[in-house]
Amino acid sequence: MADLTLSRVIKRFGDLETIHGIDLDIRDGEFVVFVGPSGCGKSTLLRMIAGLEEVSEGDIHIDDECVTQVPASKRGVAMVFQSYALYPHMTVRENMGFGLKMARVPKDEISRRVDEAARILQLEQLLDRKPKALSGGQRQRVAIGRTIVRNPKVFLFDEPLSNLDAELRVQMRVEIAKLHGELRNTMVYVTHDQTEAMTMADKIVVLRGGNIEQVGSPLQLYLNPANDFVAGFIGSPK
Ligand code: ADP
Ligand code: MG
Repeated sequence: MADLTLSRVIKRFGDLETIHGIDLDIRDGEFVVFVGPSGCGKSTLLRMIAGLEEVSEGDIHIDDECVTQVPASKRGVAMVFQSYALYPHMTVRENMGFGLKMARVPKDEISRRVDEAARILQLEQLLDRKPKALSGGQRQRVAIGRTIVRNPKVFLFDEPLSNLDAELRVQMRVEIAKLHGELRNTMVYVTHDQTEAMTMADKIVVLRGGNIEQVGSPLQLYLNPANDFVAGFIGSPK
């Protein structure tokens, strides 16, 4: 289980404060979407949760452990990026297992975890292929597979679908929702696409200029937007 708590989290780059003291409670198993315009701090916030960016002030807890100073590799979180560079010379199986191999996980354990991830993502038939023989959607699934095999407590996604065409994006939304249905992990998903937010989230966090404007279910935000910004953002056509 993994509850995720942010307490008065501030981020400064030099003298410039870009995240202004975020308080947020995410419960075990929730699918939470951070949404907001470009530059509002979504990636910075996610990277601080991942441990890829230092927190300037405040704390992050996963369950009862304060992880603010814990290195990324020891937090039990894993991130799926927008640019999912796969190793071109490795097969799908090797791509998915590579991180575990580096972590010296035994071979049969790697094989077991890759097979399980391939089953969940329906990549079983493609395990011996190289990335260049895959479609964009299949590559994205391999990238997600690399994350699943690490067995993280918390999954973080930073605009994972924004490089895909519209049709594939819709298909991948459904697949990620299915993935959450099967794994039931805590997932934090960043997007600037309100349709994605409205269709995928248990809970939406609307960000603007490094502050939270509103937190609520898609329905709550739709029916009771806290202000004109939220109303405009949620209601605007895509
Ligand atoms: P989003 O992901 O919502 O588009 P970011 O988290 O990437 O926004 O950026 C939030 C703000 O922080 C922006 O104003 C951006 O210019 C600034 N920022 C992000 N990373 C850095 C950095 N490494 N150095 C300086 N400023 C940064
Ligand atoms: Mg970003």
